[in-house]
Amino acid sequence: MVYASTSPDDVIDGFLPHPPRSADSYRALDIWANQPLWSVVGSPGAAPAVTDGAQRLTFAELEAAARRRAAGFRSAGLQPGDRVVLQCVNSVALVVNLLGLLRAGAVPVLTLPAHRITEIAHLAEVAGAVGYICHDRAAGFDYRELAADLLGRVPSVRFVWVEGDPGAFAPPPDLTIDAETDSGAASGPEDGHRADPDTPAVFLVSGGTTGLPKLIPRTHNDYRYNIERATEVTGLSAADTYLVVLPAAHNFPLACPGFLGALRLGAHVVLTDDPAPDNALDLIEQYGVTVVALVPALAQVWTAATEWEPADLSSMRLMQVGGARLAEADARAILDAWPCRLQQVFGMAEGLICTTELDDDPETVVGAQVTPMSTLDEIRVVDADGTEVDEGELLTRGPYTLRGYYRAEDHNRRSFTPDGFYRSGDKVRRLPSGRIAVTGRIKDTIVRAGENVAADDVEDLLLAHPRIRRVAVVGLPDPTLGERICAAVISDRADLDLADVRAFLLDRGVATFMIPDEVRHVSTLPITAVGKVDKRAVVAGLLG
Ligand code: AMP
Repeated sequence: MVYASTSPDDVIDGFLPHPPRSADSYRALDIWANQPLWSVVGSPGAAPAVTDGAQRLTFAELEAAARRRAAGFRSAGLQPGDRVVLQCVNSVALVVNLLGLLRAGAVPVLTLPAHRITEIAHLAEVAGAVGYICHDRAAGFDYRELAADLLGRVPSVRFVWVEGDPGAFAPPPDLTIDAETDSGAASGPEDGHRADPDTPAVFLVSGGTTGLPKLIPRTHNDYRYNIERATEVTGLSAADTYLVVLPAAHNFPLACPGFLGALRLGAHVVLTDDPAPDNALDLIEQYGVTVVALVPALAQVWTAATEWEPADLSSMRLMQVGGARLAEADARAILDAWPCRLQQVFGMAEGLICTTELDDDPETVVGAQVTPMSTLDEIRVVDADGTEVDEGELLTRGPYTLRGYYRAEDHNRRSFTPDGFYRSGDKVRRLPSGRIAVTGRIKDTIVRAGENVAADDVEDLLLAHPRIRRVAVVGLPDPTLGERICAAVISDRADLDLADVRAFLLDRGVATFMIPDEVRHVSTLPITAVGKVDKRAVVAGLLG
């Protein structure tokens, strides 16, 4: 195991690399391949590579399109190392732009379609982005207006490229390369830029449910290894058809193994931006989809839909569910309804990915007893004093986990230990089997009258109430308590009130300080860009 730390003095322009000793050992073990990220895509051929509702490209066509796009970006003035904010809906265009940017040596900032000007301007500013790529419109939103706003707010942004109807802007550029330079002998952008593999290849966006997102630098070496390990733990092969339905710029459908993992092995990638079950289940039948990655809320809806949707789902081999906790009852329902394996995935865009294994028995899968996907992942479970305990906060370090957010020194002091472990904020328990189970969030706590109350503990208790379908427990400002506990509930009984909830919890012997001070009925719970309950928006809704 490698114990080398990186000091803040090692920061290069806001990026904290892995310390040389760790990096050298990962290279010596051959897990860092020293190859550019774009080369992870499988070799050209006539097999289908990417398909959306409008177009399909073979592997040969995808490579040619990415080369033309890279050459177009370079001739438009994009330089290696330039950062470009990419905000596309799930489409072939997203894949071509991503691979084109990578081949040109630019560093994509992978934002989600649901981000708006506040997040995009913040991310562009922190990244020092020179460009922004988007679609014209999607889901009733005009990204060209966002682009105009961005140009006014962030002076470093010089290029705007728009897919579809570009309006006042230009479409992403393509430059046809002649056959000679196309042969691969030259080392221009048409051949693909080869950056230092220990520098950021892409910036992911942190998926926090509070505060503005942060930039997660993922290097060529670490991200490639992430993809390779994830393809192994999912048993992905060229025979698979991988459906992308979560926002494709999110780490899970991007690289765990995601569409990059699928393309690495020569599997077919089908992209859709309509997660509604009637569309998605049809696509499974139409393309013979074998693997899909979902968040629990979507898995739940699709599972219910198997009851009435007539689609043939027999091609399915694996459903990965992650990004938030999957309730046991939902996991059992998935196993009952789907003709495929379920793999629970607990992970973070910051790095560490843990999964259940393909040959696990159903109880292990349902219980989400997960293992880190690399034997080089270092895990610590600690209490508030940093002492190792069986149940506490998960700290992690390893060959594909970041050493620091980009240009976020203050935040990094809080989010990392001095010896480089990332403080995940997740509460986990070490199991006798050596696996871990996620039991909650350390950071999602309400401080009520000086007492720390874990919001998800209260949520679990309330979900046992027969009339509560969904619930989000949040802290609201209170002049005497500091924060009071508010349960925002979705219930089929409008007269369910605080007295009912109190009686129910007291009956179960719950500590009084954990009992909500307030119960509010809501019709929906707002979700983040990738489908997790957005606590910040819940609070804003309750206060507003
Ligand atoms: P993101 O970076 O958007 O993938 O968010 C990572 C965070 O999502 C983790 O730190 C966890 O808090 C949460 N998360 C991801 N997967 C799971 C899971 N299977 N169970 C519980 N929480 C999860």
